[in-house]
Amino acid sequence: MSKLLTKSKYLVGLQCSGYLWDSIHDKSKIPQPDKSAQYKMDQGTIVGQLATKYFTDGIYIPEGNFMESIRMSKALLSKRVPLFEAGFMVNGLYSRADILKPVGKDQWDIIEVKSGTKVKEINLHDVSFQKFCYEQSGLKIRKCFLMNIDNTYVKNGKIDVKKIFKLTDITDDVADIGKGLTQRIEVLLKVINSTTRPKVPISHDCKTPYDCPLKHECWSFLPDGNVFELSRGGKKSFDLYEQGVVLIKEIPDDFKLSTIQSIQHKCEKDCKTHMCKDSIKKFIGKLNYPLYYLDFETINPVIPLFDGMKPYQRIPFQFSLHIVQEDGSTEHLSFLAEGKSDPRKKFVAELKNVLGNSGSIIVYNQSFEQGLLRELAETFPKYLEWVISLTPRFVDLIIPFRKFHYYNPVQKGSASIKKVLPAVTGKSYDGMYIADGMTASIRYIESEFGDCSESKRKKIRNSLEKYCGLDTEGMIWIIDELKKQL
Ligand code: SF4
Repeated sequence: MSKLLTKSKYLVGLQCSGYLWDSIHDKSKIPQPDKSAQYKMDQGTIVGQLATKYFTDGIYIPEGNFMESIRMSKALLSKRVPLFEAGFMVNGLYSRADILKPVGKDQWDIIEVKSGTKVKEINLHDVSFQKFCYEQSGLKIRKCFLMNIDNTYVKNGKIDVKKIFKLTDITDDVADIGKGLTQRIEVLLKVINSTTRPKVPISHDCKTPYDCPLKHECWSFLPDGNVFELSRGGKKSFDLYEQGVVLIKEIPDDFKLSTIQSIQHKCEKDCKTHMCKDSIKKFIGKLNYPLYYLDFETINPVIPLFDGMKPYQRIPFQFSLHIVQEDGSTEHLSFLAEGKSDPRKKFVAELKNVLGNSGSIIVYNQSFEQGLLRELAETFPKYLEWVISLTPRFVDLIIPFRKFHYYNPVQKGSASIKKVLPAVTGKSYDGMYIADGMTASIRYIESEFGDCSESKRKKIRNSLEKYCGLDTEGMIWIIDELKKQL
């Protein structure tokens, strides 16, 4: 029996025919979405459900029974009301429309809902496949729209569905990108109906438009120290690989590399750590006691939670602060918001209480913390002067690593603290219940806004304290170790 090319499979096939084949013939190979991917999908579902409120007279067609949903979709066309998730199958193709809106006597507009704030190329491919499928099924399509989130919307009371969404007419772009669609469909139908998997080499496509979930498998043959670990390698890494250079240490000496790539190249060749002692000394010399090691955690929900907030606006819910005095004594202070109310006012007030008037504020990637403080000052202007006064105290610990003043091959070209901490100190985030910022955000939402038992909530809050605490304590360890190595 011929396989069905659905809209989602078509989009998978555009990225890679191997991934498409596996998603049909070897499904068990495709890993379940991780917490972060699942969270994004859930946010998309919430947005999709909200979008249906845009049209009060619409009818939702449940997917449950596949053939029944197709039958219902067809039958409901005559009602001439907006249809949500209407599904049509024709010539081996199947597509469900987020929204089909009737226009005039017998035409329809396609409205595709996305939780992003801009029209992306992949959205145009998505809608071009839908349009083709509906037209082949006999529908007259007038226009195509993308219904995105408007990030200028400010919540004031109940979410206003007419204002949080913006409609963009993408009819012409869809027509442009739709050129060659029938040939692409033909190729992909052949792929899914073949008994053998197409051989696809690794390429840029593995990361665009999304990180392919099979990357860990397809890329697993690459040994440590491979050219894709080259810092900001991009096209250069692929060029080297295509020329048969797999390892960084194999890159010919006359190949043009940037300064930091040359350091990485030398480290790989010599199996050694690089440290520019003068630069590190200079960096450490800038630190003024007491040292305030600071880290924030945030959430940025697509649908604003509190009045005065925009979609995707960041809400800080946690900080960790380690204060180190010149005599070596250390104090740890932290804030972790509790309950469903807006934590920002308390967050900024508590932070002001503990940050003192002098001494370096050491953060890892300062644009994040400083940007957030600026946003808070915009919302609570009484803190503006204080936020401005903090600027000269900030010291960004990522800089020596981003500039490769210190580099250990175990960092694999990365300056992220998750790679730098083990490289410099031998300690790591391994085995922690919460071990990255995205998981911290998701768990916080679960514990304070979700349906969570008291014991689970306790576990999450303890883990959040440990995780954020390690981010700041880890920075102390890094600086102590760098000092030792001078
Ligand atoms: S990792 Fe790359 S080659 Fe492998 S299936 Fe995904 S896109 Fe295709």
